[in-house]
Amino acid sequence: MPIKELRLAHTQGFCAGVVNAIDVVELCIKKFGVPLYVRHAIVHNTSVIKDFESRGVVFIESLSDVPDDHVVVFSAHGTSPDVYQVAKDRGLTIIDATCPLVTKVHRQAKRYCERGTHIVLIGHRGHQELIGTAGHINPELLHIVEDERDVEALSISPEVEIGILTQTTLSVDDTAHIIKKLQAKFPNIITGGKEDICYATQNRQDAVKELATQCDFIVVIGSANSSNSNRLVETAKQQGVGSLIVDLPEDVDPAIFDAYDRIGITSGASVPYYLIQRLVDKVKAQYPNIQIHQDDSVEKDILFPLPKEVADMRNAQ
Ligand code: SF4
Repeated sequence: MPIKELRLAHTQGFCAGVVNAIDVVELCIKKFGVPLYVRHAIVHNTSVIKDFESRGVVFIESLSDVPDDHVVVFSAHGTSPDVYQVAKDRGLTIIDATCPLVTKVHRQAKRYCERGTHIVLIGHRGHQELIGTAGHINPELLHIVEDERDVEALSISPEVEIGILTQTTLSVDDTAHIIKKLQAKFPNIITGGKEDICYATQNRQDAVKELATQCDFIVVIGSANSSNSNRLVETAKQQGVGSLIVDLPEDVDPAIFDAYDRIGITSGASVPYYLIQRLVDKVKAQYPNIQIHQDDSVEKDILFPLPKEVADMRNAQ
């Protein structure tokens, strides 16, 4: 039986932090020209990265790949202070595209460290945001936790004060379980709740939960290295609905449109809208009588201020 209904998650795609980070690169291309060096993928989406690369942006991991007297843009995921220092010492012009919600976590890390509070940092080892945040924490106070098993293995004195910080793009439900386990094990935890998971992550996971009540299968558009996109697939599966992640609309196996009546589509916070539109157009071309639904996003008018030096570039245009 071919598909009858396509439902688009009401809230999906670019968050305010990603919009800003992309604006930063665009404005820097205009002001400084190319090659423009960006440390790490500005956001975790291959289409965005390929587009910038085709226009002369060079993504690097090590500052040693940035020539002297150049500009370096730091990605939305946040950067460790030691990397910042190296860039400063070399006299590079630093433009920081860190999302303000990640910067907020860095500030809290600093406050905890100043009062000697041990910090349990929940996140995915090896993810750029976790590496950046960990860099803001005194190593003697830092305890990285990825899952509930790590909580069991933690050996911190029950006497000491403990604060919790998290990556911003985690599963809301899994993180709540980890925090509950931490609270049961350590009486002196001074924070609780969902911690630093950002509004965009929360809203996209809520939208998938809603979609899961209306669909038999959910396609998530997002790149393999995108934490928040991968969490959307997990969220769908935890609701009992099959789901897969694809980088591009062309990666979707057309057989699924003959296998399910009602299919949902969503996308991660770093995914451009044109990819969603391309998938919708593809399905519409194949099934012209299909019903398409999308409710209004809950995220209207959320904007973050650009970093001052970048806002000045825009004003000078
Ligand atoms: S997902 Fe959240 S923390 Fe990450 S850039 Fe978007 S708003 Fe900022």
